[in-house]
Amino acid sequence: MNASRRHHAPDDHAPATPAPGRAPEGRAADGQAANRRAAGCHAADRRAPDHRRLGRELGLFDTDPLIGAGLPYWLPDGAEVRHTLEEYIRSEERRAGYRHVHSPVLGKRELYEISGHWSHYGEDMFPPMDLGGEQLVLRPSLCPHHAVIYRSRARSYRELPLRMAELGGMYRSELSGVLGGLTRVRAIQLNDAHIFCTPDQVAEEARAALEMIGRAYRALGIRPARYRLSLPGAGGKYAAGPGLWQRAAALLAEALDRCGLRYEAAEGEAAFYGPKIDVQVADGAGRESTLSTVQIDFHQPERFDLGYTGPDGARHRPVMIHRSVIGSMERAVAHLIEAHGGAFPAWLAPTQLTVLPIGDAQWARAEAIAREAAERGLRAEVAGAERGSLGARVRAARLVPYLAVVGAREAADGSVALRLRDGRRPAALPSGEALDRIAAVVRDRGADLWPAG
Ligand SMILES: [Zn+2]
Repeated sequence: MNASRRHHAPDDHAPATPAPGRAPEGRAADGQAANRRAAGCHAADRRAPDHRRLGRELGLFDTDPLIGAGLPYWLPDGAEVRHTLEEYIRSEERRAGYRHVHSPVLGKRELYEISGHWSHYGEDMFPPMDLGGEQLVLRPSLCPHHAVIYRSRARSYRELPLRMAELGGMYRSELSGVLGGLTRVRAIQLNDAHIFCTPDQVAEEARAALEMIGRAYRALGIRPARYRLSLPGAGGKYAAGPGLWQRAAALLAEALDRCGLRYEAAEGEAAFYGPKIDVQVADGAGRESTLSTVQIDFHQPERFDLGYTGPDGARHRPVMIHRSVIGSMERAVAHLIEAHGGAFPAWLAPTQLTVLPIGDAQWARAEAIAREAAERGLRAEVAGAERGSLGARVRAARLVPYLAVVGAREAADGSVALRLRDGRRPAALPSGEALDRIAAVVRDRGADLWPAG
């Protein structure tokens, strides 16, 4: 395994290894199983869900040879899921004390020579563009930009830990033969952050990042296959000396222990600049990939000559923690599609409520309910009789978490009779009350579509 391909990008395109055949565990498992049943996983769908097939069937994303291989575009429903995910990540990061920045998707070749990407990672980068005597490259990672932003101001120990986050674009020159779906792409939107901190703060910051990853997995209804402590292997090209590597690996192990997480150490899987914790997820066929990472880096702070003024008035070197909660938007959505068979948790579903008027006479009432839902921030649509029989419309909306059927009685008394994706049919409620309950589940990112009480 070539260490130079082991950049920290959690969108790591490592050859997949078969996962041990473990039964689903954890809180989300029941919900997921229910979702899969409700997703109408008919006999023909026994095979593991494939995000490429589902993505096309559900109208989430597609590709076009004219745009190019490995450059998928997102359709409105797919973009809805992705934006909801992005908003979730940004709000979680804000709550955890991160500040967001924006940086350009390209930079001068020198930037990557300093960071070490040019020599350690060059084969994965797009060729440079010559422009008036300068060479510009599409960035293979966000770290160098963030290091430069850190360096742009004098820093005091009082500012540390300084947590800098960005959902930003990065690029990888994959060969066209291996491209496909959302998992092998050339343009990647990465949920990235860099924490600049003192050596004493590293274990606690890494622990907090692991906790954030755990919270996100619970909200998303996905579960890690395993935690991997990725260490350097023999013969790889690595920056920095063995002393720093051992220290960094010990700090990551401490963070895992503080979280009470079991992990496996794996040699040869580290980034070129430091060891990392990889959170592995498995697809339906048991193939593993890395979704989330936490990495410790003593190398780039050195290369960019980063510093801060300590309480002693002297200049000190910060440590850089690279961290991604859900990896790239592409890989995260691909995994979510497969893990839920397209039946996303209610807060993430592209359409959360479909209102079904039984006949044309209930159309106006159905529209009013959809408007009431939209006022509560819900994504609602009306599917009228022009789309076929009630049975056909119910089947077409089988992945939508909530259906509201409006017949003559409901139209007359202002109630709605809900049908939940998991098969439950709560008693009819005044429409405002029913929508408030749906909005509460969405707001809390609940796994249960209709909590008791
Ligand atoms: Zn980084």
